[in-house]
Amino acid sequence: AAKAAGRGIYRFFEPEMSARVQARRRMELGLRSAIANEQFAVHYQPIVNAKTGAVVAFEALIRWYHPERGLVPPAEFIPLAEEAGLIPEIGLWILKRACRDATAWPTGIRVAINLSPLQFQYRNLVGDVEGALRQSGLCATRLDLEITESLLLQNSEVTLSILHDLKALGISISMDDFGTGYSSLSYLRRFPFDKIKIDRSFISDIGETSESLAIVKAIIRLGEALKMNIVAEGVETIEQKSLLCRVGCQELQGYLFSRPQPADSIEAVLQRISFDHAA
Ligand code: C2E
Ligand code: MG
Ligand code: MG
Ligand code: MG
Repeated sequence: AAKAAGRGIYRFFEPEMSARVQARRRMELGLRSAIANEQFAVHYQPIVNAKTGAVVAFEALIRWYHPERGLVPPAEFIPLAEEAGLIPEIGLWILKRACRDATAWPTGIRVAINLSPLQFQYRNLVGDVEGALRQSGLCATRLDLEITESLLLQNSEVTLSILHDLKALGISISMDDFGTGYSSLSYLRRFPFDKIKIDRSFISDIGETSESLAIVKAIIRLGEALKMNIVAEGVETIEQKSLLCRVGCQELQGYLFSRPQPADSIEAVLQRISFDHAA
């Protein structure tokens, strides 16, 4: 009787649980075949020089067009890909694609690519990056790799040596989402980042009197002292732009300039920005 009751309770929870588990498994199976089925695309969002308004780089942002669910945002599927061990393959695909796309742009414009912390654990990241550069013919000095603080939390000796190897190739390293992690400042002391990207959450409420403005100003001073360029992420309004220019932020990125766009729209984006935002 106890056994029967136990099974009854189990069965009571089972349908919902298994529906969620199954949906997840279906997503994972879909992810596994997404490269082969050409469901991924890389979109590009411009980063502009705050003083001149010129586009200095495009950040590569992956998109997944799921056959039934439509566009799935990276915040949803990147963690799943990480758990399922699919990041090395997807990460390599993005590297190759973005390096290749960037060779079509004016040579003064760089490409920024996000790396998952897991790409530092599997395979030969430095070899993969070198391979992507060699195959595409893109010069290493045009590549920025963006990493987050969570990377430096684990395994930092190995990570630091890989970062140094990448820098030795001529690649720039950016700290992404700065200010949202746990001990940003100690990382700045331990690794010579080329750029710091201030997280969008600080930019969104950067009114004249806000705490965020004080923090942004302090990060900019810090960047000057450490000779690291500062990029503001998530700039959406003209007010945010002028405030950031006034406090000396060097580079700006956000919907104000452009949303991420497919590779074949790059020329149009460049034209529109030089028209709308030239200083
Ligand atoms: P991230 O690296 O911080 O990228 C910036 C995110 O902010 C992008 O979201 C971009 O579309 C969004 N954004 C830019 N300007 C604005 C703005 O003015 N307002 C608002 N509300 N949002 C803005 P997206 O493309 O959804 O990507 C989210 C995150 O997913 C990225 O954050 C990055 O951590 C991750 N991701 C995207 N592509 C890749 C990739 O190729 N590889 C890896 N490992 N991660 C990626
Ligand atoms: Mg990024
Ligand atoms: Mg990122
Ligand atoms: Mg970011």
